[in-house]
Amino acid sequence: MSSIPSNQLAADQVAVRQFLDRTVAPAQLSSSELADYKDRIIRLMQEKNARLVAHYYTDSVLQDLAEETRGFVGDSLEMARFGHDCDAEILVVAGVRFMGETAKILSPNKTVLMPTLEATCSLDIACRIEDFAPFCDAHLDREVVVYANTSAAVKARSDWVVTSSIALEVVDHLMGQGKKILWAPDKHLGNYIQRTTGADMLLWDAACIVHEEFKSRGLQDMRSLYPEAAILAHPESPQAVLEIADVIGSTTQIIKASQNLSNDEFIVATDRGIFHKLQQLSPNKKFIVAPTAGEDATCRSCAHCPWMAMNSLDTMLRSLEQGDNEIQVEGELAEAAMRPLTRMLNFASEQHLAVKGKA
Ligand code: SF4
Repeated sequence: MSSIPSNQLAADQVAVRQFLDRTVAPAQLSSSELADYKDRIIRLMQEKNARLVAHYYTDSVLQDLAEETRGFVGDSLEMARFGHDCDAEILVVAGVRFMGETAKILSPNKTVLMPTLEATCSLDIACRIEDFAPFCDAHLDREVVVYANTSAAVKARSDWVVTSSIALEVVDHLMGQGKKILWAPDKHLGNYIQRTTGADMLLWDAACIVHEEFKSRGLQDMRSLYPEAAILAHPESPQAVLEIADVIGSTTQIIKASQNLSNDEFIVATDRGIFHKLQQLSPNKKFIVAPTAGEDATCRSCAHCPWMAMNSLDTMLRSLEQGDNEIQVEGELAEAAMRPLTRMLNFASEQHLAVKGKA
C-alpha cells in the first residue's frame, strides 16, 4: 500500500467534504419548463454548431438530449474520442471536470464548455499534483499508471492513463516487461488489479465516494431476496463487494453483461444514473440498486454522484447562452497529458481492445 502520511489522508477527507458542501442540487423543472429549455438548447446548439456529450451517470434528460441531437452518451474516454472525431465547433461536456479537461486535451481546437465547473470527483480532489509529484519522485523505479479520474497535471506526471476496462491489460503488459507499478488514485480499483494480475503495485489511497458506500452485508441480504439476480459491480467498489459479484466491470462492461446474461434480474453496484441506459436496452429486465450505507453515507446522495447530479438543463442553457464555464488547459500541460493518453489509445488499438470504461 502507499506511504501517504495519515495527516495527508485526513486533509483529503476535509477537502472532499468541502467540495461536497458546495454541491447544489438542480432545480426541479415542470414539464413545460423542460420542453422550453430543451427547445432553446437545441436552437442554440444548431446556431453555434455545438454537440452535447454526456456521461452515463448524468440525468436521463441530458442523456436523451445528447442522443436526440446527434451527440453522445458514454464513459469519459468515449466521450472525449467522440468529441475529437465529430465536426462540431463547441463541445458541451455533461459530466465532471476531469472529463471536460480530457475532451479539451484531445480536441485543443474546439471550445469545450461544461454546465458547471464545480462538478468534480473525490478521486481527483484526493490526488493533488502537489502531493502526487513528490510521491512519484520518491519511487522513480516504478511506472506511473493513473486512472482517467485525475487532473490534467496528474495525467501529465504519469507514464500511462487508463480507464477501468483497459487497466488490467495495461498492468499485465507492464508486468510482462518486468515493471513495477505506482498506481493512483483509486485504491479499490488498484487492489482489484493487483489481486487479478499479481503485479507489484504501490497504491495511492483514495476512493470514489459513491462506490465506496456499497456494502457487502446488505448485498448478501439482497441476494437472498433475489436469488435469481446476477450481481454486477464496478471495480471501484470495496473488495468484499467484488467478492460477491458475478460480473466485475466498467460501465460499458456492466451494460454489455446486462444484455448478454440470461438473468431477468440484476443487482447493480454502480451509480444509478446508469439505470437509464440499462433499462432502455433491456426494458423487460429488472434492475435493482445495490445497498449502500444509507442516508448517513458520506456520498450523501447514495448510489448517485452528487457532482454528476449538478449537470442540468438550466445550467447547460446558461453555459451555451453565455459561453460560461469554458475549459482551458494550458498548451504545455495539455501536450504532456496527451502523451500518456495517446499511449493508452495506441495500446488499445494494437491489442484490438475497445477503450471503454468508467470515468
Ligand atoms: S461517481 Fe465517483 S468516480 Fe465518478 S465522478 Fe463521482 S466521485 Fe468520481
